[in-house]
Amino acid sequence: MRRLDIKTEYDMVVAGGGITGAGVFHAAVKKGFRVLLVEAKDFAWGTSSRSSKMVHGGLRYLKQGRFLLTKAAVKEREQLLKDYPGLVTPLKFILPMFDHYGPSRASMKIGLSLYSFMAKENQHESFSKAEVLKAVKGIRTDNLLSAVGFKDAQVDDARLVLRLISDACLEGGTALNYTKVMGVERNKKGEVATVHVIDDVSGASLEIKTKVLINATGAFAETLHPSPMKGFHIRPLRGSHLVFPGNLLPLDRVLSFIHPKDLRPVFLFPWEGALFLGTTDVDHDQDMAAEPFVTQKEADYLLEGITYLLPGLDISIKDCISSIAGVRPVLSKKRTLASKESREHVVWKDKGLVTVTGGKLTTFRLLADDALKAACPYLPRQRIPTSGQKGQDPVADDACQIVSKNIQERLFGRYGSAAPQMIQQYDEKLFSPIGNTASLWVELCHAAEHEQIHHLCDLLLRRLRIGLFLADGGIQLLDRIQALCSPFLSWDSKKWDTEKKAYIKLWNTCYSPPDKTKES
Ligand SMILES: Cc1cc2nc3c(=O)[nH]c(=O)nc-3n(C[C@H](O)[C@H](O)[C@H](O)COP(=O)(O)OP(=O)(O)OC[C@H]3O[C@@H](n4cnc5c(N)ncnc54)[C@H](O)[C@@H]3O)c2cc1C
Repeated sequence: MRRLDIKTEYDMVVAGGGITGAGVFHAAVKKGFRVLLVEAKDFAWGTSSRSSKMVHGGLRYLKQGRFLLTKAAVKEREQLLKDYPGLVTPLKFILPMFDHYGPSRASMKIGLSLYSFMAKENQHESFSKAEVLKAVKGIRTDNLLSAVGFKDAQVDDARLVLRLISDACLEGGTALNYTKVMGVERNKKGEVATVHVIDDVSGASLEIKTKVLINATGAFAETLHPSPMKGFHIRPLRGSHLVFPGNLLPLDRVLSFIHPKDLRPVFLFPWEGALFLGTTDVDHDQDMAAEPFVTQKEADYLLEGITYLLPGLDISIKDCISSIAGVRPVLSKKRTLASKESREHVVWKDKGLVTVTGGKLTTFRLLADDALKAACPYLPRQRIPTSGQKGQDPVADDACQIVSKNIQERLFGRYGSAAPQMIQQYDEKLFSPIGNTASLWVELCHAAEHEQIHHLCDLLLRRLRIGLFLADGGIQLLDRIQALCSPFLSWDSKKWDTEKKAYIKLWNTCYSPPDKTKES
C-alpha cells in the first residue's frame, strides 16, 4: 500500500477508511471496479480501532427479539473465522449467574440454545458454582449460583481494516489516508459527477470524476449527506474501555457480567496479553474533530461494576495502564436510553451518493453488499472480477518455517500475502516481542515501510497497538523505535522530535488512565 499519483477518474470513490469503507472498497475492487478510498485522518482512526474487538452474533440482540440480526451476525462470524485465521480467532465467554440479579438460568438456556442452533454447533457449556470460583478468582460469592459459557470470536479491529485495504490495493484499488472528501458536484440531472478531495499530506486539492460516492464516514455521515429520514439523526454515543495488565487476573476467556447500577452487559476481556474493561454507552458531547477520551465518570462506572463482581480482586484506577474511547454511529429518532438504541445499519441513496452507516464491525460484509446494491445503477455494467489470488489465502511455504507457528499465524493473519516476504526480508532478531506485548519489532519495520505512516500515532496506536499496552504509551521505547524505523520513513530529526512530542501529548490527553484534569 503506497501513496500513489492518483488518477482523476474512478468508477467509485469511498469516503471513510474504517471497517465500513474498507469493506465496501474490498468488495468493489473484487468485482473489478476501479475504486479510490480516501480517509480524512488515518485508516481506522475512527470507531474501527476503538471497538470491543468482538466478532459476535450479539447474544443481547436475541433478548431484544432481533433474530435476523443475530442470525446474520453468527453466519458472518463463522465465515470470518474461516477467511482470516490468525486475525479472527475463537473466543470463549463465561457469564456468572446470581440469585438476586442478572439473567435467569432459564432465559440464558433458551438464548444459548438459539445461538447454538444458528451456528449449527453446540456452542454453550455450564459451570457449577465450584467451577466458577476456580475459573474467576476474586468473584462475589453471595448469591452466586453457577455460570454459562459460550463461544464467539475476537479480532484486532484496526488490523482487519488494514488487511481489507491492503488486500484490495494488491488487486488494483487505491487507498489514501489523510485525504478528505470535501463535497460533491452533480450534473444537470442531479447525479454525482465529481468528488472534491483535499490531500492533507501534499496540501493538494483534487477533483475526481466519478458517478458513485460511498459515504462510509461513520459518526460523520451527516456532514456529507444529511439524513433523509424525517426525525432520524446520527446520535454519537461514546463507548469506553480501561486497559489493565494481563497479570492482574489470569483469564483465558471474556468475563461477561451485568452492571449492578443499570443492568447493562459489561465485559472484562483478555486481548494481546492485557485485560480490557468496557464498555460505557453515553452521549458523546466532546469535540467530534478531536480524538475521544474516557472521562473520570465513565472510569468510575466501569470500576464500580467490576468491583461489585470481583470484590476479591481489589482493582483500582491505579492498576490501569491506558484507556480508549470510541463513538458509535447510532441512528436515533426518539433518543431513548442509549443502550436501547438500535445497532442496525442504514443505507441512504441520493443519485449516486450512497451513505452506509450504523451497524457493527462483525457485519461489515453485509453493509458492503447493501451499499454496492444501492450504487449499482450508477456503476459500469461490465467489469472483470479480480482473480482473488493475490489478497486471499496466503500460504506458509518452507522458507517461512524459520519462525515459529505462532508467529506465522500472527503475521499471515495480520499481513496476508505480505507475510512471506516479511519473514524472509527482515533480520531474525526482529521476530521478538516488543516489551511485554504480543507485537513484534518486525511489524514496526513493515508498517513503516509499507503502510502509509504519516504520524507516529499511526504506527503505535493503529498499525501496531503497543501504545495501549506499554507503560506510558511506550515513551521509553521511542528512541529505539526511531532508530529502527528511520530507514523506512523519510523523516529528519526535526520531524521525529515533533512527532514524538505530538504523540506524548495525544497519549496523555486521550489514551492515558482517566483523570479529572483532562476534562477541565
Ligand atoms: C466502544 C465500542 C465497542 C464496539 N464493539 C464492537 C464489537 O465488539 N463488535 C462489533 O461488531 N462492533 C462493535 N462496535 C461497533 C463498531 O466498532 C462500529 O460499528 C464500526 O467500527 C463503525 O465503522 P465505520 O467504518 O462505519 O466508522 P469509523 O470507523 O468511525 O470510520 C469512519 C471514518 O470516516 C472518516 N471520515 C470522516 N469524514 C470523512 C470525510 N469527509 N472524508 C474521508 N473520510 C472521512 C473518519 O476519519 C473515520 O476514520 C463497537 C463500537 C464502539 C464505539
